[in-house]
Amino acid sequence: MTVIAFIGLGHMGGPMAANLVRAGHTVRGCDRDETARAAAQQAGVTVVADAAEAVAGAEAVITMLPNGEILRAVYAEAVPAAAAGALLIDCSTVAVDDARAAADQARAAGLAAVDAPVSGGVVGAEAGTLTFMVGGAGAAIDRARPLLEAMGKKVVHCGDAGAGQAAKICNNMILGISMVAVSEAFVLGEKLGLSHQALYDVASAASGQCWALTTNCPVPGPVPASPANRDYEAGFASGLMAKDLGLAAAALRDHGVPGGLGEAVAQQYARLRDAGFGDKDFSDVINHIRSSAGEGTD
Ligand code: NAD
Repeated sequence: MTVIAFIGLGHMGGPMAANLVRAGHTVRGCDRDETARAAAQQAGVTVVADAAEAVAGAEAVITMLPNGEILRAVYAEAVPAAAAGALLIDCSTVAVDDARAAADQARAAGLAAVDAPVSGGVVGAEAGTLTFMVGGAGAAIDRARPLLEAMGKKVVHCGDAGAGQAAKICNNMILGISMVAVSEAFVLGEKLGLSHQALYDVASAASGQCWALTTNCPVPGPVPASPANRDYEAGFASGLMAKDLGLAAAALRDHGVPGGLGEAVAQQYARLRDAGFGDKDFSDVINHIRSSAGEGTD
């Protein structure tokens, strides 16, 4: 049994903290939002006033926060208050540079730290089936592993500090680009008189096969569980995709990678979010491609 501080009890952090309680750990949590605090309390988390109170005496500190700026602010409060030898685990999605800065700050205070962003969404957080992509020293990851395994089904050590975040943005860049590719293909197929099912049956068994097609298919019908069958609700939100692709696009620029597709798709999702469609599943991009295609071309 470990005493754990959990900072950020939102859509992801709330159910993750609840799974740690279920696994027999003592969890002290904090959040700025009253609804998140009440739900966590209901799940057995001891809710305290702030990060400093949560981390005092805790053996592990887990953060699940909206962005890197907030992470830096929370670490400024939490690191000086943490117990000697505490392990810091950041599960938020942030820029690689923010993850490295957080690890440096922890190291300077004599603490161990890992970045451990996740894939699997709210459903995975609730079911305890998240995948963790982890960056940091081997010894710190060995310590983190049992806690991560109480919240997920797979833990991949990706390299040194920041490598987990690097893997997360690279993976989500593949995902965003492939969803736009699949969506453009379906809209082109419609123009060419091809049924959705026919295109699906060919591409899913041919070289066009990918997760965006066979699991998160952007048209209703071929994959009954995909969000397209429920008006693009309750999936991976376009707003979160816009955030992750924004991090990927910034990294492409910083490292001089000619990532034309990543940049273009990042802008496409940013436009969707800014136009008020940020809460829809990211496969909703097909509807915007279709409505643009419809303008004067048929
Ligand atoms: P969320 O907004 O629901 O939760 C974040 C929580 O942090 C909120 O409850 C907020 O009140 C709290 N918070 C903000 N500032 C705080 C502070 N200073 N101190 C304490 N609490 C504070 O977001 P989420 O969907 O849970 O996502 C969290 C992170 O996980 C993000 O970085 C996101 O990109 C990543 N992520 C989300 C998903 C998903 O499907 N939702 C999937 C993978 C990764």
